[in-house]
Amino acid sequence: NSMPIASPVRTQAIVNRYFMHAKKNLGQNFLVDLPAIKGIVEAADIQPGDQVIEIGPGIGSLTEQLLLAGAKVLAYEVDQDLPEILNNELPQKIDGEELKDRFKLVMKDVLKANFVEDNDGFLDLSKSVKIVANLPYYITTPIIFNLIKSDLDFSSLTLMMQKEVAERLVAKPKTKEYGPLSIAVQSRMNVRLAEEVKSTSFMPRPKVDSAVVVLTPLLEKPDINDYAFFDHVVKMCFAQRRKTLANNLKTLIKDKDEREKLINDLGLDVRVRPEELTLNQFVQLAHLLKDRQA
Ligand code: SAM
Repeated sequence: NSMPIASPVRTQAIVNRYFMHAKKNLGQNFLVDLPAIKGIVEAADIQPGDQVIEIGPGIGSLTEQLLLAGAKVLAYEVDQDLPEILNNELPQKIDGEELKDRFKLVMKDVLKANFVEDNDGFLDLSKSVKIVANLPYYITTPIIFNLIKSDLDFSSLTLMMQKEVAERLVAKPKTKEYGPLSIAVQSRMNVRLAEEVKSTSFMPRPKVDSAVVVLTPLLEKPDINDYAFFDHVVKMCFAQRRKTLANNLKTLIKDKDEREKLINDLGLDVRVRPEELTLNQFVQLAHLLKDRQA
């Protein structure tokens, strides 16, 4: 079959042939926009021989393009209707290789992944992998934090998500999107917005537009030794985002003078609002608070 799975005609044919219906509770919105998919493959900079872990291959629209770009793909999926479709519809020969030598499907919730065990020698996990996914949107942030916490050696995460979430991930200080999620992610990874994708590129159409974000390891890690404490401090600072930082710090420091001294120690005005602080200022703030506790 020469038409890509991502073409609307081929997708519709697959839907008809297998009596498929997209499962909303699994976040199934299939991409039917080949240029958008090629945009993902390009954002991930897929080269022949690359090792990819894909989350949620669906009917294989993105998987197919990853394979054609030369990748070897380990994929996580939970919908039991899909193995048959993927095995039948993905190209049976890629660069002269059998599908089974280039594609392995793990039927498992990616949030419960044990990458080494699940991989079972398919990819060479002593070398780095790239994560690529058109995510199930209902679990976007748990998936991101799970991947960051895992001991997988990955060189990048290229993830399609809901545009609003993407905007929060890349947000800079002094914008309304900037908040605990921006800071939690930016304190762990480099974040770049690669492409925006309209809801009309999916079947069925989601209610929201989407965007592709590329996360790569930080070259220079911020000076954070206790991420749980750091995340907690940031959350407290934004508990009431319209109020000043001083006001939000009330829960952590009872005494007003002490609160104001701490803010001055950061070189900030006592009327500063949480969204005005840079990542580094939050890092310093967490250190000062930790020192106070000690
Ligand atoms: N990659 C396909 C595409 O671009 O057309 C499908 C993307 S669709 C937005 C998300 C996919 O993730 C669905 O196929 C869904 O069944 C799968 N999925 C949902 N929850 C999952 C989970 N916990 N673990 C792995 N896959 C999941």
